[in-house]
Amino acid sequence: EHIANQIAAGEVVERPASVVKELVENSIDAGSTRIDVSVHEGGLQSIRITDNGGGIDAEDMETAFYRHATSKIANGRDLFEITSLGFRGEALPSIAAVSKVRLISATESDGRGREIVIEGGKLIKHDDITASRGTDFLVEELFYNTPARLKYMKTIQTELGHISDVLYRMALSHADIAFTLRHNGNLLLQTLGNGDLLQVIAAVYGTSAAKAMLPISGESLDYRISGYVSRPDLTRANRNGISTIINGRYIKNYGLNQALLKAYHTLLPINRFPLAVLQLDMHPSLVDVNVHPAKLEVRFSKEPELYTFVEEHTRAALKQEVL
Ligand code: ADP
Ligand code: MG
Repeated sequence: EHIANQIAAGEVVERPASVVKELVENSIDAGSTRIDVSVHEGGLQSIRITDNGGGIDAEDMETAFYRHATSKIANGRDLFEITSLGFRGEALPSIAAVSKVRLISATESDGRGREIVIEGGKLIKHDDITASRGTDFLVEELFYNTPARLKYMKTIQTELGHISDVLYRMALSHADIAFTLRHNGNLLLQTLGNGDLLQVIAAVYGTSAAKAMLPISGESLDYRISGYVSRPDLTRANRNGISTIINGRYIKNYGLNQALLKAYHTLLPINRFPLAVLQLDMHPSLVDVNVHPAKLEVRFSKEPELYTFVEEHTRAALKQEVL
């Protein structure tokens, strides 16, 4: 019996990094304070994610792999005020349809857990097992049963690059979670999870970059901003060092980037860009995350007001430096 189907899988699972993103989001939603990610051969051989979150109830182990079996939307109104990262219930069935999955989970610290094995969407095993509280998700041989998709995978380095980007974003948007990323056993990223964003910036961009950051903070009736922006003398060749985090969710928004760049306008050489991690908090009704859940795109209900807010506070942050 196939409890998941391959056709829809392609929408969610494009490459190993998509698996990492979905599984880490689930670990975050489960309230984890430690998330360890270990991949081999760019994630094509294996992806393992271990967390210390709330775990999955015995009776939900199998149903979690059914399409739209999300536990995260309580009612219709919730869709407009989403605070959890996942809400579509598509990730697990999609991943399980195109790989070999072994899931171990426990909801209590009494050592009693469950193990489930699914290959190509087919349930192979479901047993009681000794496990500590949390979830241990192993995905092996991604796309083993969809050779056409497998052929589109790039080099190990490229796939690893995408996975690193996912972990960087997750770590930057969750300084209170301790992350590790390992590739073929080598430690590539380690954050402490003590809430110190500057420590995460140091882990992601290096200690000298972290030293060149200026704190940004402020609030208006609708918005609160915090985070760090780089001194104008620390510049980069592209915009990839600009991270924007709305209500704990890493997003992309062209207008926000432009607002930040405007504040740097006269300070940067042409074709150079700052490093920045902007955390913005606002009432969920002011942001629509439904535009493109997978593409990290959002829409704001009061764009001009928000952009002016960001530009002015960035300017203020840079001014501290000049004084
Ligand atoms: P969604 O995240 O959209 O709800 P998923 O397919 O990603 O859907 O996950 C299905 C369900 O499995 C989740 O709603 C959650 O209840 C459970 N789940 C998945 N991963 C974890 C985890 N690491 N810890 C606890 N529960 C999990
Ligand atoms: Mg999910």
